Amino acid sequence: MNYMQKGPYVVVVNPFSYSSVIASDRDLAYGVFDTKTNLFFSVSNNVEPAELHALIREGDTFFNQNGRVYTIARSAIRPIAVIMSTSRASYYHNFCDQASLTLPLGIICSILLVLVWSRTRRQYHSPRNMLQRALSCRQLRLHYQPIIDIKNNRCVGAEALLRWPGFDGPVMNPAEFIPLAENEGMIAQVTDYVVDELFYEMGEFLASHPQLYIAINLSASDFHSARLISQISEKAHSYAVCIGQIKIEVTERGFIDVPKTTPVIQAFREAGYEIAIDDFGTGYSNLHNLHALNVDILKIDKTFVDTLTTNNTSHLIAEHIIEMARGLRLKTIAEGVETPEQVSWLYKRGVQYCQGWLFAKAMPAREFMQWLANAPAPANVPQPPRHAEI
Ligand code: C2E
Ligand code: MG
Ligand code: MG
Repeated sequence: MNYMQKGPYVVVVNPFSYSSVIASDRDLAYGVFDTKTNLFFSVSNNVEPAELHALIREGDTFFNQNGRVYTIARSAIRPIAVIMSTSRASYYHNFCDQASLTLPLGIICSILLVLVWSRTRRQYHSPRNMLQRALSCRQLRLHYQPIIDIKNNRCVGAEALLRWPGFDGPVMNPAEFIPLAENEGMIAQVTDYVVDELFYEMGEFLASHPQLYIAINLSASDFHSARLISQISEKAHSYAVCIGQIKIEVTERGFIDVPKTTPVIQAFREAGYEIAIDDFGTGYSNLHNLHALNVDILKIDKTFVDTLTTNNTSHLIAEHIIEMARGLRLKTIAEGVETPEQVSWLYKRGVQYCQGWLFAKAMPAREFMQWLANAPAPANVPQPPRHAEI
């Protein structure tokens, strides 16, 4: 017997009973041995040390023999090891018991992990979050499409059009992400971004070219409050840009709340901004709104410009729109002009301003400045007689 004492306590250890295992497996047999001498300190009741001694081996620590499963575990710090065995039936029974408990738990945990992962991934790649990140990382770019006075072929300004360049893919069209921003309640953020970018890259240029203007596109909901008026005016003031050099385009992709929008449009006009109604004749922009909103410029949509020089009668609508604009004393800009025949047709009917790929596509700020510098000097190019003069 070994005795150990501390204060009033004495511990008595029987060297033949060093080990004790509490297990429900009745077939379990084991022995603890010294790895230097291979002598057993203690063995379970149902096995002889000589029997286990024959099974001690290096390396192979898990093995089957005589219908039993053995495993040997060696201590990493002491010269001591344990050899354990059970019947094969008991081993597989225990294995199945463990598996039936841990397997469903493992499967449930894996499914939960996959669900959380795919949800996070979906959220990260949702169009809303992607647009939010693009705005935060200032990835959206403004391009400028020249607007031409066709009386003298002079560029009077440009429309700022937003672009979303992909990392390695194509540039995303605003026709896709502006409705997304509108539906997700992010359009105010997009508009603030446009105003900031516009003045950042064009502010000084506009101040030194007071004959030029830039038109920015606002969505109907941007007119639900007057906050943009002071915001744009402050920017214009800080860059010494005249208020008349910024024009505002209103697009009606959704239903326009005329009573809510009209006071803000009028406040813009009173502050000196000219307002254009964009894409006139499409979507919700109709005659009633044109009259009620009381704007300065009417932009004839490309869908009508496309029909001007075709043989069918759809150009009659464009003629009516132009007549109506003249009656309301509005300036008119034809959008999406692609051929000289269209210019000629429009000029004859008194449309003074055109915008389209015939003149130039929308381009980055630097390119636009270069384009202006290379443009031929304004000339009174011979034009076909105007409608009023016929
Ligand atoms: P929009 O204001 O009517 O702009 C004119 C669109 O017609 C532009 O498309 C322009 O690239 C395209 N276009 C111009 N000339 C031609 C032509 O000759 N041929 C053809 N095929 N297309 C021409 P874009 O840039 O894709 O813009 C689509 C719409 O997205 C814009 O229509 C505007 O409603 C909206 N948008 C663009 N930028 C902004 C923005 O900063 N804010 C808001 N709220 N809307 C924007
Ligand atoms: Mg526009
Ligand atoms: Mg348009």
